[in-house]
Amino acid sequence: MIVILKEHAPEEKVNLLIAQLKEQGFAIHESQGLHTRLIGLVGDTSKVDENALLANDAVDQVKRIQEPYKNANRKFHPQDTVIDVCGRKFGGGHFQVISGPCSVESEEQILEVADAVGEEGAGLLRGGAFKPRTSPYSFQGMGAEGLELLRLARAKTGMPFVTEIMDASEIPLFEDVDIIQVGARNMQNFELLKKLGQLRRPILLKRGLANTLEELLMSAEYIMAGGNEQVILCERGIRTFETSTRNTLDISAIPMLKKMSHLPVVVDPSHAAGITWMVEPLSLAAIAAGADGLIIEVHPHPEKALSDGAQSLTPAQFRPVMERIRKTAEFFGKKLG
Ligand code: PEP
Ligand code: MN
Repeated sequence: MIVILKEHAPEEKVNLLIAQLKEQGFAIHESQGLHTRLIGLVGDTSKVDENALLANDAVDQVKRIQEPYKNANRKFHPQDTVIDVCGRKFGGGHFQVISGPCSVESEEQILEVADAVGEEGAGLLRGGAFKPRTSPYSFQGMGAEGLELLRLARAKTGMPFVTEIMDASEIPLFEDVDIIQVGARNMQNFELLKKLGQLRRPILLKRGLANTLEELLMSAEYIMAGGNEQVILCERGIRTFETSTRNTLDISAIPMLKKMSHLPVVVDPSHAAGITWMVEPLSLAAIAAGADGLIIEVHPHPEKALSDGAQSLTPAQFRPVMERIRKTAEFFGKKLG
């Protein structure tokens, strides 16, 4: 980190600042230019608050050289992290398809979908029990009962499942959940992230609707700083000025996240597009861009779905899509399943 001092900063203030920084454990390199005086901080600057430095009268600018995320940073962990969920691996060349309905609606529905997607080769089941809905009048999910139905589907099919947590108070209910999803709207619920950091359980962290990749990685950092290193990042489309799709899938986020971080990156084409027919092309594009997995919504009767029917594939539509996903993943040298 480089601190640029004001041109006529009083010497005693500069000395005090240097003493404070040394006290915090940093080695200091000073440099005097024609008009500019710089202080270089050597050490782990991830905990330094830039704004606190900027509040100092003697300081003109602060430039970060090192990214503020450390645990998630590929620089300190060059190898891909591989996350193993009951034998289903994400990352390091391993590729997974997570599939199922947006919401768990009934025993019949979840068992039918679980059977269908499992048969087509999806490695994990998805289904929301606690749902973040834009309208308070929309279906809010089955809650704890929905979790029970996911457990039933897991027992019947052997598929581990992914389901969304909305609030830290739900953690006791999620004790045996295979992957806990943090939805886009909760990406910066820092109290929730801190509590999930105390668990030793995989977390699928979705990118917020209008968050940068650095912000996504800082949210991953909240979980990892607590000691939970099993974080899977998820690109699910961001808000742009475009209205013909529900969101805009940020394809460039995939190679960029893979460069910035060692964590696996999964793509959700269903929420990105919001349209059934677009799930396949976006899935294939995501694989080509380097994704480590996909999360795809499938419903036996999308027209009757209690949430996200317009983007849900039927099991019959999922079959050929899955076939092309398999071929594309193989073409790009990914190990599926
Ligand atoms: C979901 O996965 O059903 C969901 C609500 O996703 P997101 O948080 O990405 O909107
Ligand atoms: Mn959904």
